[in-house]
This record gives sequence, structure tokens and C-alpha cells, in this order.
Amino acid sequence: MQTTLDENLMRVRTRIERARAGARRPGLARLVGVTKRSRPQHAAALARRGVPDLGENRLEGLQEKREWFEAEAPDLHPRWHFIGHVQRNKARRVAELSHVIHSVDSLRLLETLERVCARDGLAPEVFLQLKLTDEDAKHGMQTAELDEALAAASECRAVRPAGLMGMAALANDDAGRRAAGEQFERLATLAQAPTSVGWVHGRPLLSMGMSADFELAVEAGSDWLRLGSILFEGVDAGGSDRADGAVREGDVR
Ligand SMILES: *Cc1c(COP(=O)(O)O)cnc(C)c1O
Repeated sequence: MQTTLDENLMRVRTRIERARAGARRPGLARLVGVTKRSRPQHAAALARRGVPDLGENRLEGLQEKREWFEAEAPDLHPRWHFIGHVQRNKARRVAELSHVIHSVDSLRLLETLERVCARDGLAPEVFLQLKLTDEDAKHGMQTAELDEALAAASECRAVRPAGLMGMAALANDDAGRRAAGEQFERLATLAQAPTSVGWVHGRPLLSMGMSADFELAVEAGSDWLRLGSILFEGVDAGGSDRADGAVREGDVR
């Protein structure tokens, strides 16, 4: 029987392909399944459905999910993406538990990560997070700090620079959507500027796009879409007696 998760995934994939067809730039448009609000069973269900990249935004959540996977789903080996603000005193632990850190939002954090990773033999991929909006709540570097961070990234020997990340303003009306599209375009344009960084994938990848705006991000050439609510809609709410085929506790395989 089709589960809600299958349907959500199919619908998202269709929308991604449609957006790719009209994209201004080609991007990988791969999915990070953001599991921060979801039970580990549902994260595992997603991994079993061909989304092996999972994202968490808090160290505690990442630790819990990883422990659960080791105990309950040892056959699954998801790649863990950290997408939240990293406190510098937790940088080593985040680096140890993450394959990719999308949210390196200051030069100081980059320097801290490089130091602890060099010392402890860790090599996460890192994205430099740029602040694309004026909202106080969103973390990220301003353009001037990004220039310094790029210079620092070109000296990194432990962490592996992977690209740029940014979050757009809320795209809930036409003006918002236009603004979000422009913000993604700005990030994509910044990524095209020449640097001396040894990007781990040969070019800077773009981490941009969430449930509300991922098609705009695809059109601007996103490589990593970080999607949570749109994938797990109707799944997390599901009790054991739902008739619509939502993924249930015992239904992860
Ligand atoms: C929560 C979160 C997402 C996913 O958001 P949705 O709207 O649920 O798709 C993506 N990126 C970051 C940085 C997040 O914190």
C-alpha cells in the first residue's frame, strides 16, 4: 500500500523535475530530508525510500537520531547534514557526528572547526552560510565577511569546503516569492565569482531551498534542497489507527 510518505516524496520529486526543466542554471537538486521535527522511525522510512541524506538542526537531535539508527537500523547508513547554528563550544561534537555542515555562519566558526578537525582527524564538508535577508533571526555572513571566510577556506586542510548556503525570506505571496527568487539568484551569482578555494566537488555547490521555496531554488541552480515539512506532512501526525496509510511505528521497512 502507498504510504503518505511515498506520496509526498513522489509529489516533491515531480515538482523538482518540473522546476529543473525550466531552470536558469543546472544544479543537482538533491534532497536533504530534514528530520528535526520527525521521529527517528520516519527518518529511517525516508532513508529506505532512497533519501540517504538526513538533516538535523540541533546537536541534541542529531545525537538522538544517530543513537537510534545505530541501535534500531544498523543496516542504514545515512549521511548526516547539520543545518542549524553551531555554537563554537559544540563545534567538535557537531563535526564528529556530521558528514556535511551547511551552517558555517561566521569566519570564527570556520576557524574553530578547522582547528578542532585538524586536531582530531575529522573532515566534514562545510558550507559557508550567507545572510540573504535583513531578518535578525537568520544567521549568516555578510558579503564582506564571506570574502574573508573564502580566503580562510582556501587555507583549510581538514574541513572540506563544499559551497555556499543561504535562506530566503518567507515566500508566502507574489512579492515574497519574487524576493526569495532574487535572494537565491544572488547566492548563485556570488558562488560564480572566482576564488582560490579547493572545492571538494570541483565547484561550489549551492545549499538553498526549503519546503516553501524549493522550486525557486531549483530554478536558480540549487544542489541541495533541505526539505522537512513537505516530506513529512501527514506522516508525523499519524496515529496507529490512521486509515490513509501513513507510516506507522512498525511500518518502517
Ligand atoms: C527546518 C529547516 C529546514 C526545513 O524546513 P521546512 O520548511 O520544514 O522544509 C531547512 N533548512 C534549515 C536551516 C532548517 O532549519
